[in-house]
Amino acid sequence: MRERKPRQPRTPRPPRETRVRRGPPPPLDAGCALFLDIDGTLLDIAATPDSVRVGPRLAALLPAVSTLLSGAIALVTGRAIRDTDRMFGELVLPVAGQHGCERRDAEGTLHLHAPNPVTLARLRRLIAEFAARHEGLSLEDKGSTLALHYRAAPQLASHVHQVMRAQVEFAREEGFRLQRGKRLLEVRPEGRDKGTAIRDFMQERPFRGRLPVFVGDDRTDEHGFAVVRSMHGIAVKVGPGPTIANHRLDDVAAVRHWLDDAVAKA
Ligand SMILES: [Mg+2]
Repeated sequence: MRERKPRQPRTPRPPRETRVRRGPPPPLDAGCALFLDIDGTLLDIAATPDSVRVGPRLAALLPAVSTLLSGAIALVTGRAIRDTDRMFGELVLPVAGQHGCERRDAEGTLHLHAPNPVTLARLRRLIAEFAARHEGLSLEDKGSTLALHYRAAPQLASHVHQVMRAQVEFAREEGFRLQRGKRLLEVRPEGRDKGTAIRDFMQERPFRGRLPVFVGDDRTDEHGFAVVRSMHGIAVKVGPGPTIANHRLDDVAAVRHWLDDAVAKA
């Protein structure tokens, strides 16, 4: 008899390549708690984060989904909360920003996880100087996290990764980590991620006791998928690529369609 492989730890797990074909998620129903990434999930990724716009259809759709779920909907993003508020205008939803470093719960209370300001300031200066030396690199200072975007200079990818790894090394002891994203590298304090944010929401009304559903497209979303799956919920990866999610939707349009369907059937 063959020996059984030891069980994998449940969370967090790095994404694995797999040949399993993941089907679309089941229809959203009134008993779900829905967590949504923004860029690459609700909205197509644009040349710069500032040029992403929320159109009238999405602005109308999200309140309808919120009504269906009795308010159990939250945005879970790498963007800063102030940035999401600028994007969504009148529509004020519960939101976790900067990969869980900041979170506004359903009552409107803000929860902050602030990193060491001295280390953060030194990192900001080093990365800003690096970005200034190369055309096409831009530093996005979100407050607790720093993102270096190289979408406009993809040929610099390996250089950016190498330099950033070296720059951040001194801050590792302070608990800062590098996080890869789509054509960007982020420095963020460890201990908070999209998974911890979802776990926090799930302990509060109106999320508590519901089936968690998380939809995201990027590596940082894998933390969220792990938490949702550990709660027997529905993890939905948007687009191709390795993932631990148990469902897949092809693109932003498919996500919108899935949300539209849920509202139409309600
Ligand atoms: Mg995304």
